[in-house]
Amino acid sequence: MNYDIIVIGSGPGGYVTAIRAAQLGFKTAIIEKENLGGICLNWGCIPTKALLKSAQVFHYINHAEDYGLNKVEASFEFPNVIQRSRGVAGKMSKGIEFLMKKNKIDVILGTAKVQPGKKVSVTDKDGKVTEYSANHIIIATGARSRELPNLPQDGKKVIGYRQALSLPEQPKSMIVVGSGAIGVEFADFYNTMGTKVTIVEFMPNIVPVEDEEISKHLEKSLKKSGIEIMTNASVESVDTTGEGVKANVKTANGNITLEADILLSAVGIAANIENIGLEEVGIQTDKGRVLVNEWYETSVPGYYAIGDIIPTQALAHVASAEGITCVEKIKGMHVEKIDYGNIPGCTYCHPEVASVGLTEKQAKEKGYEIKVGKFPLSASGKATANGNTDGFIKVIFDAKYGEWLGCHMIGDGVTDMVAEAVVARKLETTGHEIIKSIHPHPTVSEAIMEAAAAAYGEVIHI
Ligand SMILES: Cc1cc2nc3c(=O)[nH]c(=O)nc-3n(C[C@H](O)[C@H](O)[C@H](O)COP(=O)(O)OP(=O)(O)OC[C@H]3O[C@@H](n4cnc5c(N)ncnc54)[C@H](O)[C@@H]3O)c2cc1C
Repeated sequence: MNYDIIVIGSGPGGYVTAIRAAQLGFKTAIIEKENLGGICLNWGCIPTKALLKSAQVFHYINHAEDYGLNKVEASFEFPNVIQRSRGVAGKMSKGIEFLMKKNKIDVILGTAKVQPGKKVSVTDKDGKVTEYSANHIIIATGARSRELPNLPQDGKKVIGYRQALSLPEQPKSMIVVGSGAIGVEFADFYNTMGTKVTIVEFMPNIVPVEDEEISKHLEKSLKKSGIEIMTNASVESVDTTGEGVKANVKTANGNITLEADILLSAVGIAANIENIGLEEVGIQTDKGRVLVNEWYETSVPGYYAIGDIIPTQALAHVASAEGITCVEKIKGMHVEKIDYGNIPGCTYCHPEVASVGLTEKQAKEKGYEIKVGKFPLSASGKATANGNTDGFIKVIFDAKYGEWLGCHMIGDGVTDMVAEAVVARKLETTGHEIIKSIHPHPTVSEAIMEAAAAAYGEVIHI
């Protein structure tokens, strides 16, 4: 065998897996066909946050007067904003190159295909094929933008997230189909920069996985910032023959036509399961994802799969955690299974949204008797000083044992605060312990303590 472990794909699933494997003493190789860091670093988490930061700075400058400063009018060249985002992604990808070297992981550039007998063939950019073998092969080939049959992406007028991150010029108007985290983040970025944005969402609420009160509040905030939002609506077809796009949208009140320069399709992802040798090896898939057990073993011994290619939450931190769990189990360590009920989800629009655990509706459906506490950011000293009082914290406890069932937040900076709830829930903390954990003043995090206190009738500042 050439290697103990070969990892295919270098996204946050693959590269983290490779580093943990190397730390555990495995001779490790990682194979990548594009850029180190995968979608997350190159076309996902990081470049979107870079764009959103530019938008936030632009917004702040234009609102300088709100902070007692002289009025300024910010201006920008759109390609420079894109270039900064691409630069940030490039820097992060270089960082992964360094980490691979530091951990003595062999980086093999090319397109990998798994083969029977625990082998992997790699075709490099010149078409040369090399075969490698390993005791354990971990597939982390990730996913791409999902294409709907009635919304085929031409990459110019009907685009996916890659094009939305690298448009040569700013569209004057944009239709965003889908209001999950990706759709809402792009809608917020383009709207803040001056594009007229309309979101079309099939479900009754935007960010449909979130607690309903959070979704409703976000809808109000985004509408206030100028985004048009159509819920219970679906794009039936799109006509790209004219100057821009004409989308035929089905609504409760009949069909309407929306016109824009560009349509961004943000309706989820499709796992990269094609042409990677799954059929040849006999690895089972279901509904477009690779089937694995709780230790990420596929149906064929010696082959594993993690990250966006398996049917768990498609998030970078989930992919990384799965990879670490997978190699630690291979090492024979005593490993805890991942608790998929305690995975935080974040949307980095403004106001931000962050949550973990059950929504109020889910908690009730599960039969819990609950205590709900809410605290508005308008009552937070730090949020007021920051000039960002839009939002609130909502916490849900089990009335009987005090278990922290869910935490839902909307407001500036909440994505950095949700980890408190994740750790507390992991440690099986009760509401009482949160109230008695002294939070620093002035911070927005006090709002979590206050929301917990509100659930028990002990809130101080409202
Ligand atoms: C616009 C956008 C924003 C996002 N924002 C966030 C966020 O804020 N937070 C968050 O948690 N998640 C976010 N995500 C999701 C996150 O990017 C993914 O969940 C994460 O990248 C999945 O990691 P992965 O390792 O499974 O796969 P990927 O990151 O997709 O990496 C897979 C890698 O495998 C390579 N590959 C594929 N096939 C082969 C082959 N045959 N041979 C060799 N290499 C191959 C690919 O080139 C790629 O580099 C976002 C996604 C998008 C699209």
